[in-house]
Amino acid sequence: MMNPVEELTIGYFRSVEGDYKRIEPQVYDVALPELIVEQLQLSNPGGISRVTFDTEALTDHPQAHFLAFGHPTLDQIFAMAHQQGAVGKIFLSGFNLQPHQLLSKLKQQLHLHKDLHIEFGTPRILHFTLWFYWFQATFLCDEKTQYVFEVGIDQYNGRLTRRFQDLLDAAQSTAVPIAPYSDAGGMASVDAYLLARAETVVKLRPMMRNYKEKLAHHLMQESNQIAKYFDGMLSEVEERQKKSAASGKEGEAFSHQKKSLELERQARLVELQKKMTLKTDLKLLNLLSVVMPKIITPLKLTAKRHAAVDLKVIWNPLSQSVEPIACPQCGSPTLEFVQASQGAIQCAQCKA
Ligand SMILES: [Zn+2]
Repeated sequence: MMNPVEELTIGYFRSVEGDYKRIEPQVYDVALPELIVEQLQLSNPGGISRVTFDTEALTDHPQAHFLAFGHPTLDQIFAMAHQQGAVGKIFLSGFNLQPHQLLSKLKQQLHLHKDLHIEFGTPRILHFTLWFYWFQATFLCDEKTQYVFEVGIDQYNGRLTRRFQDLLDAAQSTAVPIAPYSDAGGMASVDAYLLARAETVVKLRPMMRNYKEKLAHHLMQESNQIAKYFDGMLSEVEERQKKSAASGKEGEAFSHQKKSLELERQARLVELQKKMTLKTDLKLLNLLSVVMPKIITPLKLTAKRHAAVDLKVIWNPLSQSVEPIACPQCGSPTLEFVQASQGAIQCAQCKA
């Protein structure tokens, strides 16, 4: 039986077309492409690197790389394995894409002021993409803690979206699209990534604050203990110094002792400070594109004696509801449109 680290590592070697031979349980000779050997910083005499997952094997194979958690090569293997399998794409299906009396459903769910003139265009089905990101945050100081955050982004309107699991529970998923609908497009993937990352940082910040507070408290306690210990030692030395001065002896050895105690105290404090400094790392573990069909219908709203606004109304067949539309004035998502006193069309919030 392979342990999980061994399994992942060997799986990774196989995926990059590396060759490997088991020498004994948990000890392997591997031949990998040159680029990979370089990236993994493996020593490679004669094109072969020896690796082991067992500390005890190191006695018999001192030249082997011991791949355990925290080893830079193993970290690199994880990172590269993640990169490989990081991006996936699925298509959701099984929706009713011909809802009965769609336009009246749209009209019903949108709150359009009675004075607005309403004109719907022809509904079309397009593919809309939701991006789900899974970020891993690592807190590293005297111990290592990891958290995984999920963030969903709706590409078309650039908003955060519902949880991935909810989508999966409510629809069927396939690896290929059932019908070749055109893509609705939307924000660039790099902008979506930045938005998702920023959202994760927002969630992470209070956790970091808590963690730092705990560390500061701990640091203070430990520093106090160190101070107490060295104060005790110093006063002992001083006591002996006094006694020996009273008996008329030289005190040089004592000043020496005091100085080295002082130095040791400083070193201990610096070391403690270093140990208690929080390092955080955030990296993208996985990205999944979830593509689903929705119905998009143009809507022209006209206020009296004013220019019309052209909106796009999206019917989500999963929730069977109209998705909020960006207000032409303020951009906030809304389902309610009114006519301002000057005649412009805006959301109810703009008007209030
Ligand atoms: Zn508005």
